Amino acid sequence: APVILWLRRDLRVADQAALLAAVDSGRPVIPVYVLDDEGARHRRLGGASRWWLYHSLAALEAALQQRGSRLILRRGRAEVALASLMIETRAHAIHALHHVEPWWQNAERAVLRGGLNLCLHHGNYLAPPGSVRSGSGTPYRIYTPFWRALRAQMPPALPRPAPDVIPAPTRWPASETLDSWGLLPTAPDWAGGMAAEWTPGEAGAQQRLADFLDHARVYAETRNLPSQSGTSRLSPHLAFGEISPATLWHATQDLGGSTDTFLSELAWRDYAANIIHQIPDYGSRPAKPDFESLPWRDDPEGLAAWQGGRTGYPIVDAGMRELWVSGWMHNRVRMIAASFLIKHLLIDWRAGERWFWDTLLDADYAQNAVNWQWSAGSGVDANLFVRIMAPLVQSEKFDAGAYIRRWVPELAGLGDDQIHDPDPLTRRRCGYPMPIVGHREGRERALAAWAAMKAK
Ligand code: FAD
Repeated sequence: APVILWLRRDLRVADQAALLAAVDSGRPVIPVYVLDDEGARHRRLGGASRWWLYHSLAALEAALQQRGSRLILRRGRAEVALASLMIETRAHAIHALHHVEPWWQNAERAVLRGGLNLCLHHGNYLAPPGSVRSGSGTPYRIYTPFWRALRAQMPPALPRPAPDVIPAPTRWPASETLDSWGLLPTAPDWAGGMAAEWTPGEAGAQQRLADFLDHARVYAETRNLPSQSGTSRLSPHLAFGEISPATLWHATQDLGGSTDTFLSELAWRDYAANIIHQIPDYGSRPAKPDFESLPWRDDPEGLAAWQGGRTGYPIVDAGMRELWVSGWMHNRVRMIAASFLIKHLLIDWRAGERWFWDTLLDADYAQNAVNWQWSAGSGVDANLFVRIMAPLVQSEKFDAGAYIRRWVPELAGLGDDQIHDPDPLTRRRCGYPMPIVGHREGRERALAAWAAMKAK
């Protein structure tokens, strides 16, 4: 009897513990991807992620075919699709990598309740989520002690290469076609900027890593500068599991001072998964319950201006347009844009989280939720709502001029004296809007809302 390999956000053949276990079982392997919009409900993949998924699955299918295998595609509730595939193929077991997302936890539980033999393996994180604990056995909620404890468990096991051959069953079950899933945009085709920048799939991930290693020794100095390509841009590849974090750990050992900086960023990914493991609804509910009574503003026009990159704050607008066109945004700018929405516009962080979910190619439930709650100060960590970022100061401090010129083309001709905050006349001349809200005004309004919440 064959075994089923259930693929989710682990679309790779190298260092894939579930694939290796399936092959090691000595049985024929049936790789399957189930597009489960029903189980994920409002967490179904966003538009940008669907574009990536299409190309990532196509790349994976090719990698499997090279090894004598195939990729079976099914749609519907994961547990139902898996159960019928088990019956059709008389499979003996299902191998899968463990996932923390609450809808996949539900699916895993449903599969087990259905009596199917589900074997879960680890390998999408540096350490299994939930396994990093203090001396007294409690999981961590604050990043710094988490990282210290995670570090003590490192290095992760050396990455294992892809199997040369994946044993095939004598008869393949039926598969849907990727093109029938409607994952790609029709009209208008908004994905042109994404196709120009990204190569989804395992080979694309390896290429990104190689490019990054060329300049990674200066990561510590450049990672906060949006005008430079100082970071790895591996996040969408990591989000779809096209490269394992253990691979990154071992590849970045000789970057001098930048090794530590890079690994401590990579550890944020584990930290976020660790928080979701403890608090599954972190993406929809503030961890500090007070925040439910913060008088958020209902401001559809402000939200639309933020989404469209028309707030009149060049650094914020550059980031939001980079996101829309390329499906990615520099981390420093994500922090500035998130803070601006939450504090200056006083719009509930959940509206921003939703927009990012739909537009980011690296949209990841755990990382998005943890970073948005961090920005709002509503999370389990020590960040405070009243620490309000000044977008203009940030823009100058992190030298965002060239970045703004690239993403806000109507300002491309401005010099360093004007680029961060053009004067009214220059704005009019360039066809660029006035600030949607003044920095002082926005700041004071946010602090007043905070005080009102505290007084309740
Ligand atoms: P690098 O600097 O090269 O870092 C390498 C890897 O480390 C990243 O790919 C990522 O997996 C991890 N990492 C780095 N910084 C962080 C961080 N702050 N939190 C968690 N992991 C981190 N990242 C996502 O992958 N998905 C999201 O949905 C997401 N939403 C975010 C929302 C907000 C409001 C903010 C402020 C940040 C968000 N991030 C998210 C984190 C971070 O911005 C991206 O991971 C990073 O910009 C990816 O670029 P890179 O791969 O070049 O990063």
